Amino acid sequence: MLPARPADWSVQDSAELYGISHWGEPYFSVNARGHISVQPQGERGGSLDLVDLVQGLQGRNLSLPLLIRFDEILQDRLERLHGAFERAIAHYSYAGRYQGVFPVKCNQQRHVVEELVSCGQRWHFGLEAGSKAELLIALSLIDDPDALLICNGYKDKRYIETAILARRLGRQPVVVIEQHDEVERIIQASQELGAAPLIGIRAKLSTRSTGRWGSSVGEKAKFGLAIPDVLNTVEALREASLLSDLRLLHFHVGSQINDIGVLKDALQEAGQIYVELTKLGAPMGFLDVGGGLGVDYDGSRTATAASTNYSLQNYANDVVATVQECCEPHNVVVPTLVSESGRAIASHFSVLVFNILGSSSMPCAAPPSQPEEPLTVRNLRSTLASILTSESEDGSDLARLQEAWNDAIKFKEDALDAFRLGYLSLPERAMAEQLTWACAEAIVDRLPPQSAIPEDLRSLRAALAGIYYANLSVFRSAPDTWAIEQLFPLMPIHRLNEQPTRLGHFADLTCDSDGKLARFIGTDGQAKALLELHHLKGKEPYLIGMFLGGAYQEVMGNLHNLFGSTNAVHIRLAPGGGYQVDHVVRGNTNADVLKAMEHDPELLLERLRVASETAIQQGGLHISEARRLMTHLENSLRQSTYLQE
Ligand SMILES: *Cc1c(COP(=O)(O)O)cnc(C)c1O
Repeated sequence: MLPARPADWSVQDSAELYGISHWGEPYFSVNARGHISVQPQGERGGSLDLVDLVQGLQGRNLSLPLLIRFDEILQDRLERLHGAFERAIAHYSYAGRYQGVFPVKCNQQRHVVEELVSCGQRWHFGLEAGSKAELLIALSLIDDPDALLICNGYKDKRYIETAILARRLGRQPVVVIEQHDEVERIIQASQELGAAPLIGIRAKLSTRSTGRWGSSVGEKAKFGLAIPDVLNTVEALREASLLSDLRLLHFHVGSQINDIGVLKDALQEAGQIYVELTKLGAPMGFLDVGGGLGVDYDGSRTATAASTNYSLQNYANDVVATVQECCEPHNVVVPTLVSESGRAIASHFSVLVFNILGSSSMPCAAPPSQPEEPLTVRNLRSTLASILTSESEDGSDLARLQEAWNDAIKFKEDALDAFRLGYLSLPERAMAEQLTWACAEAIVDRLPPQSAIPEDLRSLRAALAGIYYANLSVFRSAPDTWAIEQLFPLMPIHRLNEQPTRLGHFADLTCDSDGKLARFIGTDGQAKALLELHHLKGKEPYLIGMFLGGAYQEVMGNLHNLFGSTNAVHIRLAPGGGYQVDHVVRGNTNADVLKAMEHDPELLLERLRVASETAIQQGGLHISEARRLMTHLENSLRQSTYLQE
């Protein structure tokens, strides 16, 4: 079979190359125009062309980088999660319910939490808080008396009292005892207030997890009670007449469980503890399986770090079936199942789109020919010419390209020898080098997309790899790529009907050499260091999307080099087609980030005004220059921290 030629490149080839059907379904795909299209309601609704959307937003003066949030994806994730549990419950005839909560720490943005609470109402979907501030969010947003409000994290007396009083408000707060000394504070606060909260216990399981968060379980885990402490706590509650409020058992295996086997072991252990707690006289009623439901970032469906070897339905089935198996032999009524799935709910709904400012690469342009060029330079020129005309369809292209490359290498070596011996001038050597790179590039442009390419020629691509300068801060918008080498799908959002003939990675705006995106989805769960990208075309924008970053990235991001938050928008399909912009959340201005560091922007301006006055007096600066300088400074205080077009 003839290798596919660049002209035959189709959008399906791009979809395969970037794996979008593996990690993007059902929300992201490639359309016939070679753009990414977004289906915010999955298979059930319309689609939006992401490039048109970005242009529409730019027209509204929302500059890149842009965080685009699709609230309908959040809703769809909630529906899928509940659907999976409903199916599992029906399939196993489980005699209980599922009632989830969203762990607020995953994405505390007001519009995000509000959206989840409002579309989760029909399932009495609740929230999980890990700090006083998160508790405040949860308390103020949930007014459904049936929704759970799980209180995790370290708790002082005020936290506990707040939770107790919230129960009086008609909420359902469950104070989860995570440290052995918390039970004393709960007892004390309950006695003082004459009311008790619903109480939960977080157990330290012996189950070993794998992956990054493996140490979240086991004896050395930061949170949870060891079994002797669980027993002591039960006795302390019994003595204080609070055992009747012990309603929930909680465990958390760590985020992004890659291997379903780990979850099964944990569920069996927790199921037995649950049964034992009911035997000790606690009314119980809820088993909270924590977070950890994973996201298949690379679409490989493997038990590797960026993936999971199970589906949402497998997860729900295992939770339901295992808990039932634990309870039935003991005639214990099965609990309401609670999960605190954060990543699985929030990852998909936001897309970060950033533009490329330029790229560095080998100097591949052929230099104009000079009269009386040395032989090596002329040889390289004719080699280049032969590559440029090797467009035949007879399948011998690869052999000819390989031969041409061997020639080019030989001529370049000749040129270097000649330079060393003093026969070639510096400009002539530069010409020889440039022509060699021009040959390399011309060959790479003519290589078939995949198939059997000789190793030499394949590595030419990597040798020509460029750095693409991205208008973003990794530390602000994708901190986990830096902190824990997290892999996110990254790909151009347009030009997908053109073969990407270059390889490259992204460097961000910060002055930090760690500020780069250089891990991409490879094959079989292996990451790769270079991504297939397109040549930049003059001033034409080149737009890249980072996907599945809706969980944890925003809040973990920091102000390194004082790059602030990006503009964010909430988009929804409009009833009559197209889209509507629900909310615009303006990114930080330069004044915002300066203030965050206790600088006073007005004072900074004033100092510079005084300095320019002095320079004007001394004749170093013209008045019109001073005005221009002050205008730039004043404007930039009001503007985004990112580069403007
Ligand atoms: C972080 C956390 C979660 C959320 O975990 P995901 O993996 O995002 O689902 C749930 N529960 C607790 C106690 C956590 O600390």
